[in-house]
Amino acid sequence: MGEKVVVIGGTAAGLSAASKAKRVRPDLEIEVYERTGFISYGACGLPYFVGGMIEDPNELVSLFPEEMSQKRGIPTYTRHEVTAIDRENKVVSVTDLESGRQFQRPYDKLVIATGASPIRLPLPGMDLEGVYYLRTVEDGIYLKDAITQKKHIAILGGGFIGLEMAEELTQAGVEVHVFEQLPRLLPFLEESFSAVVAQTLAENGVHLHIGTEVSRILGSDGVVTGIETAQREQIPVDGVLASVGVRPASQLAAACGLKLGFKGGIVVDEHQRTSDPSIWACGDCVEMKHLITGEAVYVPLGTTANKQGRVAGGSLAGEEASFPGVLGSMVTKVFQLYIAATGLSQEQARAAGYQVASTIIRKRDRASYYPGGTDTQICLVVDQSSGRLLGAQVIGGSTVAGRVNVFATAITAGMTVAQINELDLVYAPPVAPVYDPILIAASQAIKLVHP
Ligand SMILES: Cc1cc2nc3c(=O)[nH]c(=O)nc-3n(C[C@H](O)[C@H](O)[C@H](O)COP(=O)(O)OP(=O)(O)OC[C@H]3O[C@@H](n4cnc5c(N)ncnc54)[C@H](O)[C@@H]3O)c2cc1C
Repeated sequence: MGEKVVVIGGTAAGLSAASKAKRVRPDLEIEVYERTGFISYGACGLPYFVGGMIEDPNELVSLFPEEMSQKRGIPTYTRHEVTAIDRENKVVSVTDLESGRQFQRPYDKLVIATGASPIRLPLPGMDLEGVYYLRTVEDGIYLKDAITQKKHIAILGGGFIGLEMAEELTQAGVEVHVFEQLPRLLPFLEESFSAVVAQTLAENGVHLHIGTEVSRILGSDGVVTGIETAQREQIPVDGVLASVGVRPASQLAAACGLKLGFKGGIVVDEHQRTSDPSIWACGDCVEMKHLITGEAVYVPLGTTANKQGRVAGGSLAGEEASFPGVLGSMVTKVFQLYIAATGLSQEQARAAGYQVASTIIRKRDRASYYPGGTDTQICLVVDQSSGRLLGAQVIGGSTVAGRVNVFATAITAGMTVAQINELDLVYAPPVAPVYDPILIAASQAIKLVHP
C-alpha cells in the first residue's frame, strides 16, 4: 500500500498540490476533500460570470471531480468538509454535507489548502437578506440570480475585486454605489493613479463614496433597504456586496496547534511545510515572504496559490521544490482602464526603511503617429542611494500587464534603473514606440539617484 495523502481544499492550491504529487509519485494514494459543490474553479472569473460575459458557471471550471478521479487517479469529493485534524493519530474528520455522514480518514501526509474567507464587517444589518459575498461559485450564482431583481447595489470596499464588480454590475444594468472608508480607491496606488481610477468609474456611472465610513445596513422586514454612513447620510439600495478583503481560512490549522503568523496565515517554510513535518499548507491560507523586504506578508492571489500548491505537492513527494516569495504583482481592469503594480509602493518602501525617490511619466504605448495607441502612465519607486528598482505601477491600456511584468522581472533580478534603461526592448509602430515607456521611466528615475 502506498502512502496516504489527504488534501483539504479543491481549487488552485489544493489541486495543484495533489496533481503535482501524483505526477512525481504515482504510487501515492491521494484524496481531495472540498466543501463547496465545485472544484478547480477560477474565482478570478466570478465577476465576469456575475456580469454576464460568462454564462455558464461550469465554464469557470477547468477540471471536474470525475476527471480528477478517473484521469488523474485522485479521488475528489465535493460537498465534503474536513472538520478537524488529529495530528497525534494522523486522521482527519470529514462530514459529507449532502448526507450528514461523518467519518475519519487516515493520512501519512496532509495538505491544507483551505484558502481565505471574506472579512465580515461587524456592522448592524450585515445579517439581513440582500447582503452578498463573492468567493465561491455558489456565491456567484446567488448574486447573479439576485441582480435579476435588485437594481441598486452598494459595494463595500474599493479594492480590486470591489471595483471589478462595480464595472460588471454597472454593465449588467445595476446602479452601483462604492463605499471606501480610506481616502482613495486601490489604496496601494499612487494618489494620482487612484484619482484616474475614480474618474474612470465616475465617468461610467458608478457612484463613489470615498473616505466614507458605513455605519450600518438599513433593513425592513429582514431585507436590505439602504446604507447609513457615519455622517448619518442614508442611501437607498436593495442589495449590499461586502468586499472588504479576506483573511486566511486557518481555523483548522489553529485548532490542531499549527503555528500561525502574519494576519493569522499558516507559517510555512520555503517548501510549504508547516510546523508539523507531516503537514504542508499552500495558497490563501498561508503567510508568505516578501521578495524585497524578506518580511512576512499576506498577498492572497491565484498566481501564488497555484505555484505554492505545486511546490507543496513536489515537496511532499520528495522533490527539492521551493517557493521564493512574492512581489505582490497584480493587474486589473475597470472599464477601459487597466491597472498593474508590482513591488513596493512609496509608503511601503519608506516603512521598510528605504530612502525613496519616485517618478511618474506619461507616454503613448504605440508610435505617436500610429492610430489606436493609449496613454500609459508609469510610476517607479526607487532606492535613492543605490538606484535599485523597488516598485512599479502602470495604468493605461491592456499593454500595462506586459510592462509591469518587465518591472517585476527587473526587481526580482535586483536591477537598478540604470540597468533597466539599457534593456534591449522591442519596437514597431503598431506595438510600441521606439523608446518604450519602460525606458522613458527608467531614464527619468536615473536623475533621482544620489549615491
Ligand atoms: C472575485 C475574485 C476575483 C479574483 N481575481 C483574481 C485575479 O484576477 N488574479 C489573481 O491572481 N487572484 C484573484 N483572486 C484571488 C484568487 O482567486 C485566490 O488567490 C485563489 O483562489 C486562492 O486559491 P486557494 O486554493 O488558496 O484558495 P481558494 O480558492 O479559496 O480555495 C480553497 C478551497 O478550500 C475549500 N475549503 C475550505 N475549508 C475547507 C474544509 N474545512 N474542508 C473542505 N474544503 C474546504 C473552500 O471551499 C475552497 O474551495 C480573486 C478572488 C476572487 C474571490
